[in-house]
Amino acid sequence: TQSRSSAASDVYKRQVQGMVDRITLWFVPAVIAAAALTILAWFVLGPDPALSFALVAGVSVLIIACPCAMGLATPTSIMVGTGRAAEMGVLFRKGDALQQLQEVKVVALDKTGTLTMGQPSLTTFTCAPGFTRETVLPLVAAAETQSEHPIARALVAAAGQDLAQASNVEAIPGYGLRAEVDGQAVLVGADRLMQREGIETGALADTGAALAKRGETPLYAALDGQIAAVIAVSDPIKQGTRAAILAFHEQGLKVAMITGDNAETAAVIATDLGIDVVKAECLPAQKVEVLEQLHAEHGAVGFVGDGINDAPALATAGVGIAIGTGTDVAIEAADVVLMSGDLRGVVNALTVSRATMRNIRQNLVWAFGYNVLLIPVAAGVLYPFGGPLLSPALAAGAMALSSVFVLSNALRLRRLQPALTETAPAPGTGLVPNPAG
Ligand code: ADP
Ligand code: MG
Repeated sequence: TQSRSSAASDVYKRQVQGMVDRITLWFVPAVIAAAALTILAWFVLGPDPALSFALVAGVSVLIIACPCAMGLATPTSIMVGTGRAAEMGVLFRKGDALQQLQEVKVVALDKTGTLTMGQPSLTTFTCAPGFTRETVLPLVAAAETQSEHPIARALVAAAGQDLAQASNVEAIPGYGLRAEVDGQAVLVGADRLMQREGIETGALADTGAALAKRGETPLYAALDGQIAAVIAVSDPIKQGTRAAILAFHEQGLKVAMITGDNAETAAVIATDLGIDVVKAECLPAQKVEVLEQLHAEHGAVGFVGDGINDAPALATAGVGIAIGTGTDVAIEAADVVLMSGDLRGVVNALTVSRATMRNIRQNLVWAFGYNVLLIPVAAGVLYPFGGPLLSPALAAGAMALSSVFVLSNALRLRRLQPALTETAPAPGTGLVPNPAG
């Protein structure tokens, strides 16, 4: 609830404070002038007892002008909207995000762990002449035991138990890893790591290219500076990813994929999923540049990611959306957190954001319109034509009614339905929206 109320106060500050400042600049003097004018007019032109008519009308004007409904309009909608979003498994950590999300033109997604499960498994292990899987895999896996990359977990799992102790392990972010195992220098990573280290991939490069064409991620292993094997890992697409991308397209949004993975692999997966823009082989720092490019080309960007290497992008994107099953660093850097790993949550976040902002606009139009219309009535403009004169008590009642309208309108957001439901029984999809909400 802490994030809900701070979300409300954030948007309140940003969205409304500016407007409130602009309005009060002329609102307060205008209301006082209207009240003074009313009193004067009734006193001079009104029937007897002129003074009491004048005071009743003047006080009614002041009461009607009370902008309490305007003050309630935004925070109530935000409270109800973020609450309903939470029931759908979408946590708005920063209130600004509720407004910014509906302005988004591009949804950019990290690949590993966001579009895909983030649990790759080993599919191919092809050795160079003179090397065998039995000798190479244990050395590679031993080096990977100290890495937290999903690829590392796949290799360690494939190698099984009894791995040697690796020393001098050095992770090279975006490239791979270097270590020493059993006196041998082990190098594992993408083709660009081999290029960087000046190791010829030779005939294995063709195998690697063919693996990439199947949408698998090719890696290379070198022992003592000699290319030893090409390894492929494959990561299944998450349930919900396809439905979410379809929904983004239906809403006229562009969908982009940003990944550190091999360009060919990324292109195959992107084509399969119907993704519009692909930026592959990005080093972690380049993800931010890519976001800036997307922003310049298409407009506001929402970025969805899960990993440590996504944190800078999550922090700089218009709206950063973290997968709740991802790393703590990503969650901490994000504006919105999905409680499950399912991308359909992003579609629901967009729905809540649009509905809440529409609700706020309705509230403001109502609260403002009500004031503008009733001030002349309270001043007694209708009285000479046989119309009513609002007593201060009636004026107070009318004002309360305006606040009741605004509150009831905000409460309608409670009945907002998720655009896409996360189909229940599939394992590992996490939270299912609460139907009782
Ligand atoms: P992403 O999470 O988008 O795949 P990364 O920057 O983490 O991006 O990794 C980019 C690439 O670097 C990977 O696709 C892989 O080829 C290589 N890589 C990174 N870390 C490792 C590792 N521990 N073992 C093997 N390869 C790695
Ligand atoms: Mg990732």
